[in-house]
Parts: sequence; structure tokens; C-alpha cells
Amino acid sequence: MNRVFSKEQLENFDVWGFCKNNDIIGCQVALTDTRELSKFAHQDGVLSIELASQKNANIFAGQETFELNFHISTILDLQCQRCLENLAWHYEQEFSLPIFRSEKQAENAPETVEDFLVCEQAEKIDLLWFIEEEILLAMPMIAKHENCSLPQAFGKEKNNLAEEKENPFAALKQLLK
Ligand SMILES: [Zn+2]
Repeated sequence: MNRVFSKEQLENFDVWGFCKNNDIIGCQVALTDTRELSKFAHQDGVLSIELASQKNANIFAGQETFELNFHISTILDLQCQRCLENLAWHYEQEFSLPIFRSEKQAENAPETVEDFLVCEQAEKIDLLWFIEEEILLAMPMIAKHENCSLPQAFGKEKNNLAEEKENPFAALKQLLK
């Protein structure tokens, strides 16, 4: 079943209810309504999210598992560190994430499964925040135009604000290396 979700539903996301119903949902959140990405909001930009669930063939710790399949896209305004003009950064990713019911179940997963969510049966998670984090981690630490001399599409006038837009997760990203 295809459904449209609100921002509030994503922030109180019923993971297991979603998996059980075999839903596909779509959600568009205005970037200005997000917590961290709002700092990089591109004009009337939106964060587009498509989400589907899938039963995993593997059984871990005697319990079935599901996967969430994400398709996320957005455009963010970064600042080119060479010419200091605006740089429209296009983000589009598809990825799947296994969902485990407990830490114990996660421990039983093969080592190849590095990225996953642990969510207890009745627990609701803030999926919007999770998605924001994924995007922040993917953000280039030093944004640069491929060719600064080419006319840039967006936001010349924005440069007057000349606020340095630093990736707040840059330090975290260093640690994860
Ligand atoms: Zn540039």
C-alpha cells in the first residue's frame, strides 16, 4: 500500500507496524522544518523520502528480521571553499538497513552486517533524525565546485550573508575514519 506520511509520523515512527503492513511510504519534509539540514536549506528545498519494508531471508537469534529500504534525495546549499560562492549539493542515495528487535539479535548477525537499527517491539524511533544524520555524514568536509569559473546556478546574492557553513559532523567524521 502506498501512503503519504507526515513529518510527525516520521519522528514517531512505528518500525514494526510499518514492517508488518508491508507499506511503501513517501514523505516530503521542507528543509526549513528539519533540525540540522535547515542550516543548509536550498530556497524552497525539500527532503524527499521513500521507504519500503522487506522481510529478510535470514533468521537471527530465532527471530525473523526485516529490512528498511530507503530512497532519499535533497539539494542543500553549501559554500564552495575555493571561491566562497554558493554550491548546490545534490544528495541522492538508496540503501537498506536491517532492523533488529534487540541487541542480542544484532550480536547474532554476521559481521558483514555493519549498519543496522535496533528497535524493540513497541518502540517508536525518530526516523527523520536518523535520515538527517545519514545526510550530514555524507556531506563533503570541504565543498568545492568542479570549476569555479563556470556560472553557478543558484544564490549569488546569498554570498553577501557570507556565513561560513561548516559541516557540524566534520569532527565526528574524522573520528570514524
Ligand atoms: Zn567555487
